[in-house]
This record gives sequence, structure tokens and C-alpha cells, in this order.
Amino acid sequence: MENKYNFKRFRRLRYNPIVRDMVRETVLAKNDLIYPLFAVPGKNVKNPVKSMPGVFQLSVDKLVEECKEVRDLGIPAVILFGIPEHKDEKGSEAYAADGIIQRAIRAIKKEINDLLIITDICLCEYTSHGHCGLLDGEEILNDETLALLAKEAVSHVEAGADMVAPSDMMDGRVFAIRKALDYKGFSKTPIMSYAAKYASGYYGPFRDAAESTPAFGDRKSHQMDIGNINEALREVEADIEEGADIVMVKPAGPYLDVIREVKKKFSMPTAAYQVSGEFAMIKAAGQNDWIDEERVMIESLISIKRAGADMILTYFAKDVAKWIDKSNA
Ligand SMILES: [Zn+2]
Repeated sequence: MENKYNFKRFRRLRYNPIVRDMVRETVLAKNDLIYPLFAVPGKNVKNPVKSMPGVFQLSVDKLVEECKEVRDLGIPAVILFGIPEHKDEKGSEAYAADGIIQRAIRAIKKEINDLLIITDICLCEYTSHGHCGLLDGEEILNDETLALLAKEAVSHVEAGADMVAPSDMMDGRVFAIRKALDYKGFSKTPIMSYAAKYASGYYGPFRDAAESTPAFGDRKSHQMDIGNINEALREVEADIEEGADIVMVKPAGPYLDVIREVKKKFSMPTAAYQVSGEFAMIKAAGQNDWIDEERVMIESLISIKRAGADMILTYFAKDVAKWIDKSNA
């Protein structure tokens, strides 16, 4: 039939699945994935996190087993969060040589040499008050906290961490950490900064997992206001100037525009954190058969990558790796 109006036939490339595969612009790969893990004291501990089906708090022995599975699935990296034996006002176990994360890193490194270990740098999991820094009354002190964050980063790297990821959102932390690492001879260790981290309601389930709910108040004096994107770009720019090698946007799904702008403006290796609430919503709806969990999981991650993320921190990492294997079988 004559094409009278000379309209475009986009469907030509959609009839044949082989052609569809050939013209697909965004594909998920295992190299995109970073898997978050939670270390707790004890032995043989595997506590399910209620609001995050399939996610567990693991004692160091179990964590090593989990890391082997992650490595065997072809996932290149994990990011570790620690829940210490004791919490105090200064978060001492965050930078103790025998702290939970330091022990976990050494145990993993002893058994596995082909998995990248990234560690989260913040104090909130380690402080008795659950805040990300030192307090003066109810105020979170900025400059006084920097020295402790730097100490925490150095002690993780001394234990064997391959990369550190400051999540605290104190001003100047990347500068302080870079300076401390260089001074200790770790100039080759990269920093992945949580550069644009929003004060988000999507972190709820994580706080169950990391036991880091603040005793009073909230995190709005350091994490970003949810309505701001220009400020996000200024935050990212500052972190790059201070020495960040990879910049992160967190959360991911609700902030795709921020990921896009960060990637476009700075052309930096860009990470995005698909946070616990994003994960929990998809899981819950999937378990109720309200959505096709696998399809929505993949769609959520493709969207994050399409927006500009080079790597994605996600609790779905193992499921995605299995899905990639299944798709290639
Ligand atoms: Zn924190």
C-alpha cells in the first residue's frame, strides 16, 4: 500500500526479536553491579531483614560465604556496612583496628582475591545516638567529624579495602579523606563519594538493616533537600575538586534527572544507589503478585543505567546476575 503521508515506520525494527536485540541502546551487564552487605558480630549469624526480603545481616564467617557466591555469580564488587558490638558517642568502632568492618575485610581478603571490596564511610551505624557525626547538643559538628571519617577510611584501607565510599554528607570529607589516605601512602585507593545524597524517605528499610535510626531529629542538616538539582551539581563539583574518583547519586530511581545531569555535566564515572525503599516496594508488590517482579526489577535498573549511571548499587545484584545468565543460556 502506498504510504500517502510518508510517515515513519518505527515498527519495522520491532517485529523481529533479533533486530530488536540489535538496536537495543541500553543493556545491563554484571560489571554494572555493586552488592551491598551488612556485617554483624557473632558467628553463624544470618538475620533476615524483615523489610528487605532476601537481605540478611551476616556474621563475618557467613559474609565470607556470601562473598564467594557473589563472586561466583560474576558480580565484581560489594559494598560493606557494619553493625558494631558497641556503639558510643564518638563511633569508636568505626575506626578501631579490630572493628567489625576491619575484621570482615581481612576475612574476605584471606579467602577471595578477585572481588572488589568497597566500604561505606560514615559514623551513624557506630554512634549511640545514630547520627552521622559528633554532636554538640543536638547539632552535628562538621569539621570535628572530618578527622574521624578520615581515620575510619584509613583503617578500612589498612585492613585491605580496595575503595572507600563516604556517605556522611559532611562538607569537606572527600578532601579530608583523600589527604589522610595520601599521607598514609594510599594514593592509589579510589574514593567513590556519595556526592548527591538526598534526605529521602526511601531509606527506611536500610535503617532496620544497619540499625542506624537517629535517636532524635533527622538528617536534613546534612543530606540534600529533595527538591534541589542545582545544589546537587554544586555538591558533585565540589567532591570532584576535593578528589572524588567516582560520584554517586542516591537514591536512584526517583532521581533519574539528577543522574542524567551529573553525567552530562561532569562526564565522570557515575554511580547510583537503588536504595532499600526502592527495592522493598518492588519486592512487596512482586510478592503480592501485583507486578511481575523480575520485569519491574530489570526495568528499574535499565532506567537508572539509561539515565547515565555507569554502575548501580542494588540489593537485586544477585537476582540480576542470575537473570543475565538465564538470558544468555
Ligand atoms: Zn550516616
